[in-house]
Amino acid sequence: MSNIPYKIYLEESEMPKAWYNVRGDMKKKPAPILNPATLKPVTLEDLSVIFCKELAEQELDDTSRFIDIPEEIRNFYRMYRPSPLVRAYCLEEKLQTPAHIYYKFEGNNTSGSHKLNSAIAQAYYAKKQGLKGVTTETGAGQWGTALSMACSYFDLDCQVYMVKVSYEQKPFRREVMRTYGAKVTPSPSMETEVGRRINAEFPGTTGSLGCAISEAVEAATSQEGYRYVLGSVLSQVLLHQSVIGLETKAALDKYGIKADMIIGCAGGGSNLGGLISPFAGEILRGENQYEIIAVEPASCPSLTRGKYAYDFCDTGKVCPLQKMYTLGSGFIPSANHAGGLRYHGMSSVVSELYDQGIMTARSVEQTSVFEAAEMFARVEGILPAPESSHAIRVAIDEALKCKETGEEKNIVFGLTGTGYFDMVAYQKYNDGEMSDYVPTDAELQKSLDALPKVEG
Ligand SMILES: *Cc1c(COP(=O)(O)O)cnc(C)c1O
Repeated sequence: MSNIPYKIYLEESEMPKAWYNVRGDMKKKPAPILNPATLKPVTLEDLSVIFCKELAEQELDDTSRFIDIPEEIRNFYRMYRPSPLVRAYCLEEKLQTPAHIYYKFEGNNTSGSHKLNSAIAQAYYAKKQGLKGVTTETGAGQWGTALSMACSYFDLDCQVYMVKVSYEQKPFRREVMRTYGAKVTPSPSMETEVGRRINAEFPGTTGSLGCAISEAVEAATSQEGYRYVLGSVLSQVLLHQSVIGLETKAALDKYGIKADMIIGCAGGGSNLGGLISPFAGEILRGENQYEIIAVEPASCPSLTRGKYAYDFCDTGKVCPLQKMYTLGSGFIPSANHAGGLRYHGMSSVVSELYDQGIMTARSVEQTSVFEAAEMFARVEGILPAPESSHAIRVAIDEALKCKETGEEKNIVFGLTGTGYFDMVAYQKYNDGEMSDYVPTDAELQKSLDALPKVEG
């Protein structure tokens, strides 16, 4: 056994004091985001209606390389960070691989995922601006949980519109949010105009993310002192998530380890973008080389089969448009897809880095993802979220390749969260009732044909 400990912790004093904005090191920047009404690049004024002023500034800032993390946010981070970087000795042993596998574990907080890193930042700026509260949507519930924790810390009102089917199927997620003081409303509800309209049109509907977004936006814009917040996709979210990559890099540097390969799962791209940012920065500055791999579900393959084009970020078409790899905002993954990462598009920063060849992407089928998840749980102990398990799958595949070639690669992957609320999906897998679904080209073409006609 080598002298690398199982868990590589940083001291509190070694935690990052500034977020890293990889856009500052990109010669070719992500394309500007557009106002959905005028299709012109958004101004700070446009964005400040939707987001808090400082978050709007962060969204538009593609030159500052570092942005200070306010003291209040760093104090909150101290309660659950630095998160451990774990050497997966037991997994290596199981695979009999010469590769060295490391994972950065973001599930060691009550919300169970990395989403808290941005939730606390967004709540802080809302409080600082003197707002009363924020509204949001949640599907599976990780984002809503993280936001309710962050809002209770800063004594902000938190209103979560939760897709009705999840509200009913995931009562424990709902109760966690309510325990932290959030008001959780099944969507479509009778509380908003759009909710009442959808309920009238489709009686008994179990809702969708697009509908929940429309309700959350209406709730924010119809109440004085409220803003709408999003937990992924936006460049500000990626910025906040850079804390993952900065800590990972600092911990590796502390032990003189050079990563060869960095792997992350990609839904809207926030954890992946945050994990890889400091490494991508070194590639962009010509200082180092890394192999970076984004992993997405074969049932929702925006990077590997989508189009790089301007599209709406939300099904309700109220948020700004951005240029990104997308399947079209009308794309809905097959109902049998259980593993999260169902967003139709991708962060514009991740999209541009991918387009520039800074990273590659791979898609994996869900049964193979759950197979990897169970192998990981049985040897490393942690019950991984299905989303995170996409990265586990590819880390295992790569470690097995090393076994054939004899290479001692250092493989680092992001373990974004725990899967305690995903036991229905695990049950399906354990009962042998899980199947794979890969959309046909014709299906994808249908939603791609509906992309907005914007040059870019
Ligand atoms: C939300 C979530 C993801 C995907 O979101 P990204 O923005 O792509 O990071 C991945 N893992 C977990 C555990 C999540 O909750």
